[in-house]
Parts: sequence; structure tokens; C-alpha cells
Amino acid sequence: MTASAPEPGGGAPDAAGRPGPLLTVERLAKQFGGVRAVDTVDFAVDAGTITGLIGPNGAGKSTVLSVVSGQLPPTSGRVRFAGADVTGQPMHRLARLGVVRTFQLARVFGGLTTLENLVVGVPQQRGLTPLGILGGRRVWGPQERTLIDRARQLLTTFGMAHTADDLARTLSGGQRRAVEIMRALMMRPRLLLLDEPMAGLSPSLTRRLEEIFLELCTTGLAVLLVEHELESVERLCSNVVVMANGRVLAQGRMADLRTRREVQDAYVVG
Ligand code: ADP
Ligand code: MG
Repeated sequence: MTASAPEPGGGAPDAAGRPGPLLTVERLAKQFGGVRAVDTVDFAVDAGTITGLIGPNGAGKSTVLSVVSGQLPPTSGRVRFAGADVTGQPMHRLARLGVVRTFQLARVFGGLTTLENLVVGVPQQRGLTPLGILGGRRVWGPQERTLIDRARQLLTTFGMAHTADDLARTLSGGQRRAVEIMRALMMRPRLLLLDEPMAGLSPSLTRRLEEIFLELCTTGLAVLLVEHELESVERLCSNVVVMANGRVLAQGRMADLRTRREVQDAYVVG
């Protein structure tokens, strides 16, 4: 639990009736054979806030996202989301609850258009499955039209409306990354887990993404942001968790963390 929680949390209320954090990670551990990738990690994320997760390569950041998103089961520890224990639940169930992640390397369907990439990401549709659309069955029903409207809105927000009908394989690396983030947003997540979304983006696209994330937070979205670009982390994150060697080294505001010796050492040595 964080020491101070000024924002409404979104999780189960405490004894005094205040909402708890939306996400709580308790003594989380993940081992791969003899490698302790994540080793007794604790932190919490409130609704409507962006929490940074930083640290040198190999610190265990992506593994934390994999476990929180349900892609990998933890070796031990607990994950609580919106007041419920969701430890070890599979990714599709967590996605339905509102926990959605993106990957360090953007994953897009190169042979589909940008618009189609957004629409096929959303599960639970009748008459439109990824296999259906990949097989060339592009028949849009009313449900799909709602999704298409939403996809077009997101494309406009991201400044990519002109690419709607371009095949994704013709997009730049930065645009593909944006497509992956939009596809996650199509799921209307409550908690968005982002793995280095700014990597390789131009300064202008980075700034645009920052504005979009901050805007989304005003609607209550919580974000757990793994990011190397510490300037972005400082601008976006109310709380930052620093990891090294699978453990939490420090937590707090980026401006304070920068001055701490153990954080500086982790980056230099790490
Ligand atoms: P980060 O994202 O902070 O760079 P990772 O979570 O990717 O770190 O990796 C943490 C550690 O776990 C590293 O030592 C990495 O080699 C190891 N690791 C990550 N995923 C696997 C895996 N699937 N199998 C074995 N080792 C892994
Ligand atoms: Mg990583």
C-alpha cells in the first residue's frame, strides 16, 4: 500500500470507507529456473493515476507486467485488482475485468489495415473473429460498426486518421507502437500496462502520447508505465517504483528519486 493515497483508488474500500488502490501487488515473486526475475515486490496503483516502473535492463519490469496481466502465473505472492484476488487468473479473464497490456515489441497484423488491426483486437464479438477476418470475411454488423466508430475516434486522437486504410506493414515503427496502444484502448481498460511505449518514438509523438495518457487518466484510467525515458516518467507519474535485480529499490516521486544514491547506482551499475 502507498503511504499516501490522495486520489480515489477504485479498489475495495478500507475500514473508513475510502476506496483502496485499484491494483495491489503483494510480495510478488516469479522465478524462471534458477533466475529470480521478480523477488518479493510490493506496490499499488490508484485509479486515475500513472505509476512508473523503472530500472536497468533485466530488473524484472516486463516480468511484473506479464504476471499482473495474467500472461504468466507468479511463483508466489498476490495480485489484487478492484478489490478481488486475481492471482494466477489467465490473461483473457483479466482483460475482461479491464487489465490490458502492451508489449515491448509492438505486435501488429501486417496484412490488415490499421483500422482492422484495432477492430480485431476486441474479443466477444459475434460474426467477427480474428480468424474470420484473417480469412477474408469482412462483413461488418451493427456491433462492428460501433467498434469501427470507436477505432476512428482513437485514430483521430492519435493523429493517424489518414492511415486507417493503410496496411499495417507500411506503417513506421512509431505508428505501429501507437496501433498497439490504440488496440489496448479499444478494450476500454481500467488498468493499462505499458511496456516502454515511448521507445523509438519521435519527440513530437512522445509528447502527443503523454497528453493522451494524462487525458485518459482524467476519466479514471490507471496506467502502470514501464519506461526508460525518465523525462516522460517525471512528467507523467505521481508515483515511481524503481526495480533492480527483481526487487523494489525505492518508490516515490521521480524528482526525489533522482537525488537518491541507490537509484543512481542501480542505473550506472545495472
Ligand atoms: P526488464 O523488463 O526489467 O528488462 P525482464 O522482466 O525482461 O527485465 O527480465 C528479468 C530477468 O528475468 C532477466 O534476467 C531475464 O533474463 C529473465 N527472464 C525474463 N523472462 C524470462 C523467461 N521467459 N525465461 C527465463 N528467463 C527470463
Ligand atoms: Mg523489459
